Formats: sequence, C-alpha cells, structure tokens
Amino acid sequence: MISELPEEFKKRMMVQLGNDYPAFEQSFEQPAVRAFSLNTAVISVEQFESCAEASEELKYDKIPGMRHAYYYVDDMHIGRCAYHHAGMIYSQDPAAMLVAEGIELPEKARVLDLCAAPGGKSVQLAQKLTDLGGILISNEPDKARNSILCSNIERMGFKNVAVTCMYPEDLAVLYPSYFDAVLVDAPCSGEGMFRKYPESVEQWSPSNIEHCAIRQKDILRSAVSMVKPGGTLVYSTCTYAPEEDEEIADFIRDELGFELIDAPEIVTKYATAVPLKNGTAYRFYPHVSKGEGQFMAYFQKPGELDKNDFSDHIRPSGNLRPADRECFKLIEEAFNGLPDINADCVFRNGETLFYLDRGIGRLPEKTVTKTGVCIGSVEKKRFIPHHDFFSAFGCSIKNRLELSPGSSEISAYLHGEELRLSQIQNGVYSGGDKGFGTVTVLGVPLGGFKLAGGRIKNHYPKGLRNL
Ligand code: SAM
Repeated sequence: MISELPEEFKKRMMVQLGNDYPAFEQSFEQPAVRAFSLNTAVISVEQFESCAEASEELKYDKIPGMRHAYYYVDDMHIGRCAYHHAGMIYSQDPAAMLVAEGIELPEKARVLDLCAAPGGKSVQLAQKLTDLGGILISNEPDKARNSILCSNIERMGFKNVAVTCMYPEDLAVLYPSYFDAVLVDAPCSGEGMFRKYPESVEQWSPSNIEHCAIRQKDILRSAVSMVKPGGTLVYSTCTYAPEEDEEIADFIRDELGFELIDAPEIVTKYATAVPLKNGTAYRFYPHVSKGEGQFMAYFQKPGELDKNDFSDHIRPSGNLRPADRECFKLIEEAFNGLPDINADCVFRNGETLFYLDRGIGRLPEKTVTKTGVCIGSVEKKRFIPHHDFFSAFGCSIKNRLELSPGSSEISAYLHGEELRLSQIQNGVYSGGDKGFGTVTVLGVPLGGFKLAGGRIKNHYPKGLRNL
C-alpha cells in the first residue's frame, strides 16, 4: 500500500482525469492485482482448467473475455508450484497482458520484442507465433535482466525464440526492414506500477520523466527502421505521463511517419480511449479495470506488407555448423532412441548443440544469449543434455515419467532428490531401463533425469530447485 503519492504527480493527474480523479486516488488503497496467463503452446485451456480445478494447488478466477488469463484468488507463493516450474503459467499484470493480446500477426511472422525483460510480453508473443509458425527475437540490453529473460523463455519451453543482448541502434544495423512487428515496451517512469512496486514512488521525479522521454525517442528511431513496410509497431509504457505517452505517440506519427491504427476489441474492452491527432491510443487505469497502469498505441509503417518473404532457409552465422552424424549417434545413445527433432534445424558450435527454428538463422554471433534451444554438449564422446532441451523437447524423448500434480514425488523432484522407480506411487513410467528421460506433469515437461539401475537421478538444475 502507498503512503504518499508525489504532490506534483497528484496535481497533474487531477487535470488529466478531472471528475474521475477521486476514484483513481482511491484505487491506491487496494493492493496490486495479481494474475497469470496460461502457456497454450504447452497445454490447452480445457486440459489445464479441468486438472487445476481438481487439484488444490492453484486457485484462480478467469479474466472475462481473455481466453487464457486468470486472476490469482489468494496470496499464494506461485514460484514453488509445479505449474510454474513446468512453464505452464506466467505471472503478469492483466493490463500488461493486453498490449501483446492486441498485436495482430500474419502467418509465419517474424517479431522483435526490443525491450523484453523480464519477458511477459515475449512469452505471449512466442505463444501466438507457435500457432502461426513464426519466430521471435527477444532483446534486452541490460545483462542482469537479460539472464532473467533467458531463464523465463527456457522455462516456458519455446522452440521459436532467440534472445539477444543489444542496444537498439546495433540491432537496427543487422535487421533493416526485417520484422512483421516490433514491440517497444519502453523503459519509463513507471507511474502505473506505484501499487505493485511502492519503491517506484520514491524514484519518481519530473526530471526522470524528461530523461525517459529522450531515451524513448532514441529507442524508437532504431525500432522503426526494423519494421517491414506495411508492418506493425507497438509502443507501450506503464506510466501515465503525457510526455512519455501521448507526446511520444505524436512523435512516432509526425516525425517517424507511421500511421496510428485502432486496436482490436480485446484492448478497447478494458482500456480507455486516448484521443490523439488522427487516431486513438489506449490507457489502462486501475479505477476503470482490474489491473495496473498501462499505455499502448498501435502503428503501421507505410507500404504493402510482403507476407511471402519468410525464408525457411536457415543461415547460421559465425561458428554454427550443421550437426554431423556422429552428434546424432551420441544423442540417440544418450536418450535410448533418437528424440523427434528436425535434424535440419540442429547446429553445432564447438562442443554445444543447438536447435534453431526456421527463420531464426540470421543471428548476430556474439550478442546472442539464447540461440534457439540449447540441446546439450558433447563431452569426451558422450552427450550431456541441457535443461533447455528437456523443457522444449521433453515430450519427444522416449523415457518419460509422468507425475501427478501436488504429489510428494513432484515435491521431491523439484527439491533435487533422487527417486526410485519401484517406489513411485503417484505417477506412471514409460520407456526403457536406462538413459536420459523427462519428468512431465499433465504431459508438460518439468525437467530431466537419468535412469540407471532403477534409480532416477535428478537433473533438475540446482539454481531452479525449491529449497
Ligand atoms: N516487456 C517487458 C515485459 O513484458 O516483461 C518489460 C519491459 S520494461 C518496461 C523495459 C525494459 O527496457 C527493461 O528491461 C530495461 O532494462 C530495458 N531497456 C532499458 N534501456 C533500454 C534501451 N536503451 N533499449 C532497449 N531496452 C532498454
């Protein structure tokens, strides 16, 4: 709860909101809204809802009108639950969810999320692109935040995402007119996050707003050059400051030459229209809808969108080479059978093997922090799988141990313990009697194990375990 809002902020909001201001101020007496979205790339809405309702682990209410978004019902610690570990759910504010919900994409789209950490919008975009056969480059220049982004993308098990760690001006040199859509969820003064992060109230100042607006324009100058003619640019912030919202939207239109376009119904259902010169942007207010503050504006680059320029051809750069037969032999031995994976998408860089989805091939070498899916590494003529591979391809591995949600076996596994095949009571094993395999929950990969002599040796990464 917030004790004091900055006086200057209050004065400005009174002018901005007029008669609605008292309701807006009252909303600060309520806690921030907690919600999550379901990762439909790994589980269907129907399967998740029927299983989650039967288990006591996760309590939620559906967000009306959104197909796979839910409010948390109580103050549960979601980070420890198997649904979270398996990448089935991603905690995110409902207002923030709307931004990516509103992005309409063509089949096989190439999308860039330019300011992506911790990754909520990338997670939504990657799901949409899984259905459309497209790919996502998720970028975050801050190294510490980039590593959080990588681990979130890994947890969700996406096959169609690469992560880069670059400043927009450097990325723009590599990808001129390349993306069907670019999302700029810009760093901002964060007024819309005052309830969620009360410390951001202390950091608020008019000079920070000014500083943010300058940086937003810089980011956008690079962003627009990466959008294909006829492609989409989406600009969003989690602030109410007109200098970072309305004025930047005018800048995109007047100085960068993009056309402001209407958002789809899902956005207009929850967000308030913000009239601008020649069009409408949208703002999510906590006193109007259940969620935090968010501004969003959708733009189109002049020109005709060429939807057929998607190349299936992978152009690996630098040291990436197609994997040879020897690699596949080692993988087959390690997994007690070759997992179902498109061999044309498997590449080797030194000792490490990667899966690169079609279209992701055009990657800058040094600044890629997640090159598609890391399959594992070849060490002394043996293959050691990486956790990323279990997350993304676990279901195509022959050895599988399906554990029931909420079971003691799942708790033990997430704690890093070894299990004995003969003692499993709440689960079903299928596969051979040796080799690497996947632990799944509701059919969704949780992590890896190695089976030897009836013992299930735990390969869940130490840094991810519940302690
Ligand atoms: N889109 C994210 C999500 O949904 O989880 C939230 C993004 S947050 C609002 C803005 C991000 O922009 C931060 O992670 C910040 O580190 C990053 N950033 C800061 N300066 C940047 C720059 N010059 N170019 C691109 N991103 C930048």
